[in-house]
Amino acid sequence: MSENSPQRIAVVAGDGIGQEVMPAALACLDAVTERHGIRLEYTHLDWGSDFYREHGSMMPADGLDELSRHDAIFLGAVGAPDIPDTETLWGLLIPIRRAFDQYVNLRPVRTLPGVPGPLATDRPIDMMIVRENTEGEYSEIGGRLYRGRPQEAAVQETVFTRLGVSRVARYAADLALSRSGRLTSATKSNGIIHTMPFWDEIVAETAAASGLGGVDSVLVDALAARFVLQPWSLDVVVASNLLGDILSDLGSALTGSIGVAPSANLNPEGIHPSLFEPVHGSAPDIAGKGIANPIGQIWTAAMMLDHLGHRAAAAEQIAAFERVLDAGICTGDLGGTASTAEFTDAVVREIRRGE
Ligand code: ATP
Ligand code: MG
Repeated sequence: MSENSPQRIAVVAGDGIGQEVMPAALACLDAVTERHGIRLEYTHLDWGSDFYREHGSMMPADGLDELSRHDAIFLGAVGAPDIPDTETLWGLLIPIRRAFDQYVNLRPVRTLPGVPGPLATDRPIDMMIVRENTEGEYSEIGGRLYRGRPQEAAVQETVFTRLGVSRVARYAADLALSRSGRLTSATKSNGIIHTMPFWDEIVAETAAASGLGGVDSVLVDALAARFVLQPWSLDVVVASNLLGDILSDLGSALTGSIGVAPSANLNPEGIHPSLFEPVHGSAPDIAGKGIANPIGQIWTAAMMLDHLGHRAAAAEQIAAFERVLDAGICTGDLGGTASTAEFTDAVVREIRRGE
């Protein structure tokens, strides 16, 4: 591909408020890409619950092939009350994660201006949670023993591979080096005595090899308490699949509203497309009312720009919605009165105005 050809984005607005916050994010992307001379080309894919009701699957049989021809996948939300969560997960999100080796799940946790969190403190929180996204505790190895007998048991194997742990640790170490240089690793090696020490060993080796002074390995129980008591003391947190799943939800709860939290499923090398989606779901309870907070989707778009190499444009997009919040404009979930469209228009105006 030549330097001048557009980067191709597969857009799945999906269900519920996905249909409302996606146009909001695309409007912001249009404004910022225009300012920076960035060319993005969108393929809109009508996958999700309606597609499922009609065809019995979340995406077409050649869906992964279609996605593979893109540089990034930009997702709103998929899911509906009448469709089991397992269908959305195993019919769309997990196949995508696996096919494109998206081994990093990245979630920024940062307090925003004028958005009070549940903690009784004004100290800003600004951390990045790096969750291993392909192996660990979520393996399919295991099963039931002695079914129906008094000694019935269930076994589930955790699998950490040297490759799997070292690549996520390298990503986290590099991220820490680009920030404060502080890396914290979640562990539970006092209780889980085979797999977690292996995780600790490889994370420590990788951090040392990357030029980072060291890594602070913290037992996840104590780390969970630190999230609540001293979240400002954390910068980059790396964690296994299960521990990272729990910590990243705890993290987003610290920042006020699920409507603002962004996330990315990354194939950091860019061999395959990465997937960008807000943390929230389709929110059927508020869908169709025009009141959804579009920040999660707009911030997610900024993460996508950053991953595609447009760091300055990404930062401008984030600064723009922060200035709108600073001016006291926000949606109902943050205590304001702005509609999705009003908030989005304000962000677009800020982007056009520039710094
Ligand atoms: P899904 O099954 O797709 O995950 P859900 O209803 O289980 O949907 P969320 O969509 O994450 O989960 O919604 C959880 C709660 O947060 C809901 O009450 C919803 O209205 C609210 N919420 C989620 N996203 C937003 C948003 N962008 N703006 C305002 N409120 C939101
Ligand atoms: Mg849900």
